[in-house]
Amino acid sequence: MKIFNNITAPVQALVDPVTREHGISLFIKREDLNHPEIMGNKLRKLKYNLLAAKEQNITTLLSFGGAFSNHILALSAAGRIFNFSTIGIIRGDELESKPLNPVLLKAKQNGMQLFFISRSDYREKESAGFIKKLHLSYGNFFMIPEGGSNKLAVNGAAEIMDDLDEEYDLIACACGTGGTLAGIIEGAFRQNKKNTQITGFQILDADSYMSNKISSLVSKKISKGINWNINADYHFGGYAKTNTELLDFIRWFKISHNIDLDYIYTGKMMFGLYQLIKASHFKEGSRLLAIHTGGTQTAKLPD
Ligand SMILES: *Cc1c(COP(=O)(O)O)cnc(C)c1O
Repeated sequence: MKIFNNITAPVQALVDPVTREHGISLFIKREDLNHPEIMGNKLRKLKYNLLAAKEQNITTLLSFGGAFSNHILALSAAGRIFNFSTIGIIRGDELESKPLNPVLLKAKQNGMQLFFISRSDYREKESAGFIKKLHLSYGNFFMIPEGGSNKLAVNGAAEIMDDLDEEYDLIACACGTGGTLAGIIEGAFRQNKKNTQITGFQILDADSYMSNKISSLVSKKISKGINWNINADYHFGGYAKTNTELLDFIRWFKISHNIDLDYIYTGKMMFGLYQLIKASHFKEGSRLLAIHTGGTQTAKLPD
């Protein structure tokens, strides 16, 4: 699986009136450019999962997600490209009788089998009983959790830090299920980046969920060895919730930097960072790096 050997994403400077006025050096790492289909952090998170499945000679990958899941879309593309069968267990049995939305349609075109389950079954999806039922229905498969966040994913996401040559005072990413943030914390630890603050902008409206997730994905030693925190001030009410202020910001950012942000993840992270910059939260001369985790294939604003 060649594309995994050399994943790279360029770092670009973001110079604009806001960063200039506050004397901030802001950069963006374009993980959204790392692959046209298995875009962004999802490529990083799938890497060691796919390698493990291959090593165990398992030819079917199964995972879970909502109807707009970037993870489901990326998994379906990875299946097509690397010859795995893929099964997507999708939240919401009411969707069964409706036309597929563009995300699920693309997943299906990539060869993914889609199964819709009720919201109450979905809540139980990680229980032993439910997984046993899945095996009875679908045979042997390699299971990847919702959002792709497991230890193998953390290992892959840690490599986001590998090709950074410069030092930063802060590295920011958007977090949904926390696997990417956990990976960046792990990567920072491997590189002994004790002076870098790692900040995850939480896009779900869920107290303490994120800290618990991070504790389940990185060891205490690593968690304690790195300065990291969760910022929950910019989730705009929760998953995929937006308002005109956020959408206007995303449009301004596109005009200023010619970079698309999505309104679910990276738009909220970047909005939060700019709010903090405008509020002089960072010392003049600070060097900040935002990770562009992708997402523009599903939640880009219309042009
Ligand atoms: C899935 C996704 C995230 C969240 O990643 P987690 O590892 O689940 O926290 C962030 N940004 C984008 C663009 C995503 O698609």
